[in-house]
Amino acid sequence: MQHFPDARSVVRALAPDEPVILNRPHAAARAARFFVEKFPGRSLYAVKANPSPDLLQILWDNGVTHYDVASIAEVRLVRSVLPEATLCFMHPVKAPSAIREAYHQHGVRTFSLDSVEELAKIVDACRDEAGEPAQDLRLCIRLRVSSEYSELSLASKFGCDLTEAPALLQETRQHADWLGVCFHVGSQAMTPFAYVQALERVRAAIAEASVVIDMVDVGGGFPSVYPGMEPPPLEDYFQVIHQHFYNLPIAYNAELWCEPGRALCAEYSSLIVKVEKRRGDELYINDGAYGALFDAAHVDWKFPVRALEDDLIKPEMDFAFYGPTCDDADYMQGPFPLPEDIQAGDYFEIGMLGAYGAAMKTDFNGFGAAERIIVTDEPMASLYDGSRTRPEADNVVSLR
Ligand SMILES: *Cc1c(COP(=O)(O)O)cnc(C)c1O
Repeated sequence: MQHFPDARSVVRALAPDEPVILNRPHAAARAARFFVEKFPGRSLYAVKANPSPDLLQILWDNGVTHYDVASIAEVRLVRSVLPEATLCFMHPVKAPSAIREAYHQHGVRTFSLDSVEELAKIVDACRDEAGEPAQDLRLCIRLRVSSEYSELSLASKFGCDLTEAPALLQETRQHADWLGVCFHVGSQAMTPFAYVQALERVRAAIAEASVVIDMVDVGGGFPSVYPGMEPPPLEDYFQVIHQHFYNLPIAYNAELWCEPGRALCAEYSSLIVKVEKRRGDELYINDGAYGALFDAAHVDWKFPVRALEDDLIKPEMDFAFYGPTCDDADYMQGPFPLPEDIQAGDYFEIGMLGAYGAAMKTDFNGFGAAERIIVTDEPMASLYDGSRTRPEADNVVSLR
């Protein structure tokens, strides 16, 4: 991969006609070290947020040893890039063939589930050649919890509720060498209280089931920083989680896990786009809803933008974007503030696309291409660049 100092130097050197993904390895490394050093337990990287092999290697090199995978393709990918990593198959609904391959060929021992049907599937798929059940399964019951404090809900699809959890915990304990409880509060949880509420649910389920619990996994949901979404410091989340974990009725040596996706990789990537046409306050650009801007189109996510031309001198105004495909839905309403005099042929940078951005690009309508380049400047915003001081600051982040 080519190296440049920043987006401007890329535009000056290459004047790219196709979008360019800018990767910042130092930002991902810094996020990984932050979780490894400060989270009071183990941090698994949720691979779906960005499965780039380069990123997986950076996280591994900076101390992330466990990976939350959700499909057999993710199992194979991480296994091929990181032969020694511990893989945890945390999708509660899996194909039997995926479970079989993960267990027998890739050394996966940890699986999540939210129903007795899935338990039976796992037990069956992991039998040895003589048909004997596996003795080393590490199973994790996914509880449904509220997503009310998060920007993106994960509350309706997976997880058993409190009326089902105790029986499922008791039944699963019979087949598991090691039993955990997991949940997901929804992505971009804007307050640590989201985890408090969820951990109270865990407490209720465990108390009712009265089984030995070896692990509690608080899932993902740790926020990054975007315009209009500036969360409290992550240390506050860690502290509250630790305190409530500590008070649970669990084995004295029980482990605490988390599964950050977004928080580990949002700062890793940004995108250079070119304006193809301007129509009033609408810019037609060369990436969009079927590219790295899926969330900007589908859930109105506000990503930060900055112009890359020196000759744009007017104050900013709000723009909406059209992506390159022929589909009307390829539209990002924003608003995205850019200089009033921006026009066709100009470039700008869209930041914080390392999570659920670069990973979502498709080839629909022939617009999937993007070069990848490493840059060394700071991401447009950071939770980890030392600009935030505790304890007095509750909303201090650097937004450039
Ligand atoms: C998506 C997902 C994550 C990561 O969520 P973030 O909000 O990106 O931190 C973690 N665990 C599971 C089970 C997920 O589905």
